[in-house]
Amino acid sequence: MRFDIMTLFPDLVNTVLGESIIGRAQKSGAVEINTYNIRDYSEDKHRRVDDTPYGGGKGMLMMAPPIYNCYSAILEKQKEVGFAPESRRVIYMSPAGKVLDQKKAEELSKLENVIILCGHYEGVDRRIIDEIVDEEISIGDFVLTGGEIPATILVDAVSRLLPGVLSDPECYEKESISSGMLEYPQYTRPYEFHGVKVPDVLISGHHANIDKWRDETARELTEKNRPDLLEREK
Ligand code: SAM
Repeated sequence: MRFDIMTLFPDLVNTVLGESIIGRAQKSGAVEINTYNIRDYSEDKHRRVDDTPYGGGKGMLMMAPPIYNCYSAILEKQKEVGFAPESRRVIYMSPAGKVLDQKKAEELSKLENVIILCGHYEGVDRRIIDEIVDEEISIGDFVLTGGEIPATILVDAVSRLLPGVLSDPECYEKESISSGMLEYPQYTRPYEFHGVKVPDVLISGHHANIDKWRDETARELTEKNRPDLLEREK
């Protein structure tokens, strides 16, 4: 799968996605992530990318032309390397979008190409959203300074579902949210930490009892922290 990310701060995105599991996935070719600096596509000699909003109001808005030029260059670059995806989605990271969840991450992981637009300042000119964006996605009901952190969250959530990114698909099949519930509590060495021992059942070697204990504790934790997930099950 290939991601193309349009941003004013490519280093911010590359630094986060260049590390750890997603960094390794890029090296192995399981995922391709390209970033583009929207400023490089400005039509202004001072490389301006923003201006004041019509109608007044505080802050600056990202202008449509540099974003459109950047988007066109991405499509052109894809053509040059013979990349002709059968499925592509253009996403604008926005607090006004639908909130990202695991189901959406799974849906996006089936696509061949996702192009992401990161806003900054007061956001972007509406006309660019209407012209090139298929979907607006938020990462939660709060407002951040830019779309870069949301984009890295989206790319991480989607990439770890791709073949060859995690060592074992079971890693995500049984974990929080994917299973419809939160994950059961987990323990590793040392056996005793600050006077608290690992629950006996986990060292009993009795797999049926371990599974039962995990189901019960997962349900208890879900009832306590996320009862809405159990409501969705009904
Ligand atoms: N004026 C915009 C509004 O009220 O919808 C908010 C602009 S915000 C300060 C700047 C940029 O950060 C947005 O264009 C968007 O790309 C990104 N952003 C902020 N919060 C976000 C969130 N919860 N989810 C996704 N992107 C977000």
